[in-house]
Amino acid sequence: MKKDFMAKSGDICTFCGKSRKDANLLITGISGAICDDCAKQAYEIVTEESRTAGKSTFGLSQKDLPKPQDIKAFLDQYIIGQQDAKRYLSVSVYNHYKRLLQKVTSDDVEIEKSNIIMVGATGTGKTLLARTIAKLLHVPFAIVDATVLTEAGYVGEDIESILTRLLQAADYNVEAAQRGIVFIDEIDKIARKGDNPSITRDVSGEGVQQGLLKLLEGSIVNVPPQGGRKHPDQKMIAVDTKNILFICGGAFDGIEKKIAQRLNTRVVGYAASKEVDLVDKHNLLKYITPTDLKSFGLIPEIIGRLPILTYLNPLDRETLRNILTEPKNSIVKQYIKLFKMDGVDLSFDENVYEYIVDKALEFKLGARGLRSIVEAVMMDAMYTMPSKEEKELHVTLDYAVEKFEKSDVNRLKIA
Ligand code: ADP
Repeated sequence: MKKDFMAKSGDICTFCGKSRKDANLLITGISGAICDDCAKQAYEIVTEESRTAGKSTFGLSQKDLPKPQDIKAFLDQYIIGQQDAKRYLSVSVYNHYKRLLQKVTSDDVEIEKSNIIMVGATGTGKTLLARTIAKLLHVPFAIVDATVLTEAGYVGEDIESILTRLLQAADYNVEAAQRGIVFIDEIDKIARKGDNPSITRDVSGEGVQQGLLKLLEGSIVNVPPQGGRKHPDQKMIAVDTKNILFICGGAFDGIEKKIAQRLNTRVVGYAASKEVDLVDKHNLLKYITPTDLKSFGLIPEIIGRLPILTYLNPLDRETLRNILTEPKNSIVKQYIKLFKMDGVDLSFDENVYEYIVDKALEFKLGARGLRSIVEAVMMDAMYTMPSKEEKELHVTLDYAVEKFEKSDVNRLKIA
């Protein structure tokens, strides 16, 4: 297609008959022309048509919606272990998008939203899981930290700011944002202290939970596009949260005790000894139920709005070792690529990996620590190699130990 000033044919819009001088813009094709108004209208018709044909504006139809096993296979490429969490997440994300595609029929069966809550120690992959899901689905994705939320009037961010982040991630395309995913981290930090509702106003806990409830339930929320209260004059944008998938994550420190208590009371008496034997005491999180979240201090209404509850396993030595090299964009693969860009072939002895894992365990840094340790080992080489002639770097255990011993990370431990 050519713009009107370049074209010879078609001096009127073939659709509405408007002449060139009456139209703002006339776009000409081989044997006709279309004015800007008709082009806009045509676009709307196409969008509407594809929606009613089961195609949504986010580009998925029931046919090409990835199936739970496909979603899980995709997650497997990036996340080591955590089989249960990956299965739960795959199924609920699949159901969520099926729900978005549901046609309103007369049978009155409306599929309800299933927000997710993941419980697991910090650094076990909760954020990574949520982020990877969003990547697969090509939907806007925002991460927010529940600790920064406070009730209006107190220092901190308002609940609505969660949606500001999502709007920003969607480039202010409201339609796209309304089908996005929000990951709310550290949800455990807004638990009220203790099991009993307090009479006094609980700023950090229950009030924020009540506010959050509104978002999780699905409602129209007026969102300040710039966020915060620094821009009092900004025009609010109405966002419907009905189809936004909320994934919450939290470490819930100490919840194991509540689980243990519950398991004990349940197993007293009949068949008790048998059940106690079956309990994996090293990983009590896998027995978590909504009751435990309530004992921890989440209000029942919030728990009800997060019906999919799953857990993450602590990372053992073998998992840490695999995280180093196995994921599609593993830390080691990233460093190899960085060096490759300077034409340098980087390789490691197997025992270097063991050493890095040892240090991560020793410093109790978890998976996040792996990166800092590799960074410490590689820093010198990253500084010098680009100016050198050598085109190969093989990292041996001696080399790794030497570089790590003189690094800042090592000093951190002493501090
Ligand atoms: P969380 O949200 O549970 O605190 P993250 O998802 O932020 O933890 O994990 C921190 C980092 O550790 C991730 O960016 C990733 O590199 C690594 N990581 C953690 N768990 C895994 C895992 N199971 N598989 C692969 N990488 C992991």
